[in-house]
Amino acid sequence: MENIKELEKKYIINTYGRDPEVTPLFVKGQGSNLWDEQGNSYLDLVSGLAVNILGHCPKVVVDALQEQSKKLFHCSNLFYTEPQVQLAQLLVENSSLDQVFFCNSGAEANEAAIKLARKYAKLFVDEDRFEIITALKSFHGRTMATITATGQPKFHQGFEPMVPGFKYAPFNDLEAFASLVGDQTCAILVEPVQGEGGVHVGTVKFIQGLRNLCDEKKLLLIFDEVQCGIGRTGKFLASEHYGVQPDITTLAKGLGGGVPIGAMMAVQEVARGFNPGDHATTFGGNPLACAAAIAVLKTILENDFLVYVKRNSEYFVQELEQLKKKLPSLIKEIRASGMMVAVEIEGDSRGREVMKECLKKGLVINCIGGNVLRFLPPLNVTASELRFALDVLEGVLKKLK
Ligand SMILES: *Cc1c(COP(=O)(O)O)cnc(C)c1O
Repeated sequence: MENIKELEKKYIINTYGRDPEVTPLFVKGQGSNLWDEQGNSYLDLVSGLAVNILGHCPKVVVDALQEQSKKLFHCSNLFYTEPQVQLAQLLVENSSLDQVFFCNSGAEANEAAIKLARKYAKLFVDEDRFEIITALKSFHGRTMATITATGQPKFHQGFEPMVPGFKYAPFNDLEAFASLVGDQTCAILVEPVQGEGGVHVGTVKFIQGLRNLCDEKKLLLIFDEVQCGIGRTGKFLASEHYGVQPDITTLAKGLGGGVPIGAMMAVQEVARGFNPGDHATTFGGNPLACAAAIAVLKTILENDFLVYVKRNSEYFVQELEQLKKKLPSLIKEIRASGMMVAVEIEGDSRGREVMKECLKKGLVINCIGGNVLRFLPPLNVTASELRFALDVLEGVLKKLK
């Protein structure tokens, strides 16, 4: 197995900078737990970056995949398939959007949203509109258009020239967004809760203000719910916290419970912007991925599931606030929406050290921007698992002193 780390260095293009000294090699996952090749177990509070929302290898998804894999994996979008239509119906019936385009990732979902916004504006609003305003510290993906949409210069460096037609304003600053709207603006694209940028929760005033601004200026409001959607914040979609209905919503990460799938949803009026031939993908909406997503959604949307998420996330955040009171010189701020949780620690760069120490004690957490610890637990994590994580974190932080 040591060999795997050597082979990785040789055969995998180095985009992830894995450190063989400290990066585990995981061979198995079940529920909230992962096991490395030596049989050590870990509590996983990253969930494959908000992907494994029902934990690892959940029975409902395993069963759905097994069943579907005996019938039909893939046959292209030249033909009708049942799981694709059923999944679309489930998504539509549980949201304010009317129609769905399926793809394979978050970046692809946002790419589809950007194309639809431009096409809709050209066809139905004003030929000259193409500009999209996004937020600073946002994250929308790694394709050329979506890194351009991403309001963080570090993702642009070395890839210039960027795609024309994007402007950036500070998140939660409604006036700054309003001041950027011009004759060429066609849409505003934001994450209601920013993920990669450090878990920044949109204020009600800001998100509702964006809706009003868009109505007033005939712009489309696009919500990137790739990370915050599918129950992550304690509601099925984060937009529900704000009582705001966007024109387009993008989904991916948690949607397939670990199986790659993305979706771009639009209201009927806006969906008219796409006609046959305007957009397509070979794999998008394939029966295998859709069968997995149907199993995930049915679980998430069951009676008390989201109540459970809300209760557990409140417990977790309360306990973190307690820890902050105990360690005021170490913890700067707790930010959270449901099971999207960040602990910002003092100092610019101690986050990675904390992450590594937690790993040694059997706890997988994530670190962004040097000093932000991010927790994205599986939504069915138990209170006692969260207790274990809190105890490990407290021990590690105390040793930092
Ligand atoms: C992860 C993420 C993306 C990109 O998704 P990929 O599947 O990695 O392409 C886009 N938007 C948000 C908000 C994300 O968190």
